[in-house]
Amino acid sequence: LGPTVVIGEILVEIMAKSRGDGFLEPIELIGPYPSGAPAIFIDQCAKIGGSAAIVASVGDDDFGRINIERLRSDGADVSAISVSPDYPTGSAFVRYRDDGSRDFVYNIGKSAAALVSLTAEAKALFARAGHLHVMGTAFAIPGAWEMMDHAIGVIKQRGGSVSLDPNLRKELLGLGQTQERFAKLVDVADLILPSGDELFMAAGVDGESAAVTALLARGVTEIALKRGEHGSTFFGPDGSRVDCRAFKVVEVDPTGAGDCFGGAYVACRRLGMPVFKALEYANAAGARNVTVQGPMEGAASRPQLDEFIAVTPRSLP
Ligand code: ADP
Repeated sequence: LGPTVVIGEILVEIMAKSRGDGFLEPIELIGPYPSGAPAIFIDQCAKIGGSAAIVASVGDDDFGRINIERLRSDGADVSAISVSPDYPTGSAFVRYRDDGSRDFVYNIGKSAAALVSLTAEAKALFARAGHLHVMGTAFAIPGAWEMMDHAIGVIKQRGGSVSLDPNLRKELLGLGQTQERFAKLVDVADLILPSGDELFMAAGVDGESAAVTALLARGVTEIALKRGEHGSTFFGPDGSRVDCRAFKVVEVDPTGAGDCFGGAYVACRRLGMPVFKALEYANAAGARNVTVQGPMEGAASRPQLDEFIAVTPRSLP
């Protein structure tokens, strides 16, 4: 029916080599790495196969160029990435603390990422798209949010579908419109890919089975619940449920696991794979990505995932 399209921020990530608290003293950094949740999602999607495209904005700088080149060489359609002559590409400096939490210094709101808008190229892309993937990070970018209505209308009218990864980070929950925007998207989503408590937030009720029932009653047809090192579970109409065990890996860098999971799951389902196979590829994509440093560095092609699945043990249920 046409490509899978995502709207949102492209960034570079620069990470601290050592764990510790913040950036108050000079420390060794590595990067830049291509990043931004929508960019990671679409990169993994493109690597699985089927067509995939992103609507985003970068600066006329090397941080923008490494993203465009990576996405292009991994097979994504980059025609709707606009290049701003005035603003730099967004960036995120990240340092892990010993307890696994992260300190960030972001430059997104006043970077090219915030300039994303409904350009002629974006319009042309939506007019031939078959699926829109929405991520919570777009709630905070006015241009991305404004485009969403247009994109959803056009794509649904063509018989296309919509998926939603809530990705509700702390910073987003602080924004006044987040709950309202989130609820609006739940109402139009065919597929939701929540992680942890996001299932309850999407449904507006606590308890796994109550939340699943509430979402299905609202018109969602598929829920792919991400459970970190415990794998993932599909919930569908008529009480159907499919569990898929996680792969046993040593986690090096957890950033991007959920985005790789989502990119693989959406791509596999759009290629017509059955639910269990899609969950298995998605678990493999998430698990493989956490074994590699850099948010997008572990995104994998289908042959790489086949190899990973063949040699990696599963965790116990
Ligand atoms: P999010 O980043 O959105 O919170 P998760 O952390 O649940 O998402 O990761 C997405 C998927 O990636 C999981 O459902 C799982 O399949 C895989 N994954 C993530 N972390 C690990 C891990 N430490 N070990 C094995 N698989 C993992």
